Amino acid sequence: MTVKKTFPKILWLIVSSSIFFIILYFALFYYTKKAEKEVYKDSVEHFDNEIHKLLDLESKPVLVAINNDSNWDEFVNFIASKDKVWFDQTIGNELEIYDAEYLGAYDAQKNFIIRTPTPRIKTLDFIPKKAMDLLDKEGIKKFYLKIPEGIVEVTGAAIHPSDDPLKNKTKTSGYFFVVRLMDKEFFENLQHITNSKIEFLGSNVVIKEEKNKIATAFQLKDSNGKVIGQLLFQRNFEIYFENTINLLYIIIVTFFISLLVNLIYTRRLVYYPLDLIRRVLETGNKKAIKLLKESNGEFSYIGNLFEENNNQKLELITAKIKAEESDRLKSSFLANLSHEIRTPMNAINGFTDLIINTNINETEKLEYLNVIEKSGKNLVSIIDDLIEMSKIDSNQISPNYTVVNLESCVSELYETIKVTIPKKSIEFILIKSSMPAEFNIITDDIKLKQVIINLLTNAIKFTDVGMVTFGYEIDEKNEQIHFTVRDTGLGIDEQEHQNIFDRFKRVDSDVSIKVGGLGLGLAISKAYVELLGGSISLESKVGKGSTFYFSIPLKYAKVDNIMVRPVNNLEVTKSDSKLILIAEDDNINFLLFQKMMQHKNYEIIRAINGREAVEICLGNPNIDLVLMDIKMPIMTGFEAIEQIQPMRPNLPIIAQTAYSSSEDKAKIEEAGFTDYITKPLDRERLFELLTKYL
Ligand code: ADP
Repeated sequence: MTVKKTFPKILWLIVSSSIFFIILYFALFYYTKKAEKEVYKDSVEHFDNEIHKLLDLESKPVLVAINNDSNWDEFVNFIASKDKVWFDQTIGNELEIYDAEYLGAYDAQKNFIIRTPTPRIKTLDFIPKKAMDLLDKEGIKKFYLKIPEGIVEVTGAAIHPSDDPLKNKTKTSGYFFVVRLMDKEFFENLQHITNSKIEFLGSNVVIKEEKNKIATAFQLKDSNGKVIGQLLFQRNFEIYFENTINLLYIIIVTFFISLLVNLIYTRRLVYYPLDLIRRVLETGNKKAIKLLKESNGEFSYIGNLFEENNNQKLELITAKIKAEESDRLKSSFLANLSHEIRTPMNAINGFTDLIINTNINETEKLEYLNVIEKSGKNLVSIIDDLIEMSKIDSNQISPNYTVVNLESCVSELYETIKVTIPKKSIEFILIKSSMPAEFNIITDDIKLKQVIINLLTNAIKFTDVGMVTFGYEIDEKNEQIHFTVRDTGLGIDEQEHQNIFDRFKRVDSDVSIKVGGLGLGLAISKAYVELLGGSISLESKVGKGSTFYFSIPLKYAKVDNIMVRPVNNLEVTKSDSKLILIAEDDNINFLLFQKMMQHKNYEIIRAINGREAVEICLGNPNIDLVLMDIKMPIMTGFEAIEQIQPMRPNLPIIAQTAYSSSEDKAKIEEAGFTDYITKPLDRERLFELLTKYL
C-alpha cells in the first residue's frame, strides 16, 4: 500500500513540474509574440511619422525661398514687364538654391511667361490652370505631376507685392513654380535623408508586410488631390527580445535539468527502495532491511515492518524451540515423576505387605518400617516440590521477611545437614566467613534455607568422594551477601549451564538416573533467590566439581550485636502428666498422635471440630497445650484460636497443617499460633515442640 502511495507521488511530481514548465514556456512564447506585434505596429507608426516629418523638413527651405521670391516687388514688376534679362539674372540663378530643375513664371491670366532652361525637363508649360486657381486661395501649394520626363514635385506660389504678404489686399500678380524631377538622383538624396530604401509604386499598389522590414507609403497627389503614385519607404526591422528569449532558454534548460533531477530522485526514492524490497522478499537480506529502514519516507516504514516481521519470525522460532524443549522436558518429567513416585510407593507397598503377611522378627520389622518411613518422606518431599513449583508458576509466592541471625541460621543448617550425610568419603565443611554478619539481617529465612539445602543436597548427591563446602561473605560496599556452595563431584557440562536452572531440567547421565530427582530443585532455588532480589549462577567442569554462587541483598535489621547460638540437641523429656488437647477431626491422624505420645505420659483429650476445641479450652483451665488442626468442620483452627486467645492468652496453641509453604506459615504466625507442625507428622519435631512449650 505504501509503495503504491510513493510511486504516484513521484509521478505526480514529474508530471506537474513538466506541465508547469510547458505552461510557462507557452505563456512566455505568447507574450513574446504579442509584444513583438505591438512593437512592430508602433515602429511602423513611428516610421510613417518620421518619413512625413523628414519630407516636410526637406521641403521647408524650398517653401521659405519660394515665399520670399513670390512676395518680391521686383518679381511683381517682372510679371508686368516680362523682362527676360531680369528673370535670367535673378531667378535663373536660384536653381541651385532650390535644388530644382525648373523655375517658371505665369502671369495673372495664368499664361506661361518664362522658365529657366534645363536639359532634364524639356516641356515648357505643363502647370494646369486649376492648380493656379488653388494658389489664389492657398498662396503656396505643393503637388505632384506626371510629365513626359517623369513624375515631378511642383511647389507653386501666387506672386504678390511685398506689402501684401498675406495675399488678400491685392489680386494675384502672377504665379511662380519650382519643379523638381523625381529621378534617380532625387531618390538617392531622399534615401540618404530618410535612411531608408525608396521605391516608386503605382497608385493602386497595396503595400505588403515583409518579414523583418517596416514600410510606409507616401502618396504623391496632384493639385486636385488625386493620387498619381506612391513612394514606398522601407527600413530593416529587427527586434531582439533578448531577455525573453534567454528566459525561454533558461526554462527549457531548467525543465530538462529538473526532469533529470526527478529521474535521479525517482531512481533513489522509488527504484532503489523497490529493489531493496525485492531483495528482502527474495532472500530476507538483513542489510537490505537496514538500508530500507534508512531510506526516505514510507519505505522506511516498510523497512521497519520487515524488521518487525523478521524479529517476530525469530521470536517464533525461539518460542517453537522452547515449546518443543518444554514439551520434551514435560514428557521426560512425567516419565521421571512416575519413576520417582513408583519407587517409594513400591517400597511402601512391598514392605507393608511383608510386615502384614510374613513372620518376621522385631529387628527385621524395625528395618522394614524404617524403609517405609524413608519412602514416605521421599514422597512428601516430591509433592512439596511440585506444589511449590506450581505456586511459583502462578505467582502465589511472595517473600516473608523476618529478622534473621545469619550466623546461627548457617551453622544450624550445617549441623542439620551434616548428620544426614551417610557417605563417609565426603568431607562436609562450613567455611567461616572472613567477615561475618555483624548484625541481624532482614530476609525470608525459610526461602534462604531452602535454597542452601537444595544446593547442598545436590552437591552431596553428585559427589562420591571429596569435599562439599559452603559459606557466605558480606559485601558491605555493594550491600550484598554472597553465598557459595562448592563440591568436588561429578560436575556439569558447559552446554548444560545455560538451562540447568530450567524446571524439570536434568542432566542425562547414569548418576542422575541413579540418584533420581525431578529437576525442580535448581528451578525453585533460582525462583526463590530472584524473589529475594538476588541472582544465582554456577561454575562447573565435568569431573572437577561444581560451584554455585548466589547473592541476596544485605539489609541489617538493627544495630544489635549478635551471638552465635549453639544448635540445640533435641532432648525429649518426659512430662509430668501435662494435659494436651488435640483438636483433630480425622480419626487416623488422632490415632497417630495417640500412639506417638502413649509412652510419654501425656494426658490427652480430643476435640473433633473447632467449636468443641473452643468449648474445652474455655471450660478446662488445666489444659497446658493445644495441638490444633487448621482444617476442621464447623469451625476452622483459625476461627477457634480467634476465640480462645483473648480468654487464654498464655496457652500455647500449636497448629498442625498439611500445607508447608512459607505463605501458610506466615498465615499461621499472623493468626497467633505459638508454632506449627506439618503433616505427615514428624515425631522428633513433635517432641521438640512439646518440650519447648510445656
Ligand atoms: P534434581 O532434583 O533432579 O536434582 P535439580 O534442579 O536440583 O533437580 O538439579 C538438576 C540437575 O542438575 C540434576 O539432575 C543434576 O544433573 C544437575 N546438578 C545439580 N547440582 C549438581 C551438582 N552439584 N553436581 C552435578 N550435577 C548437578
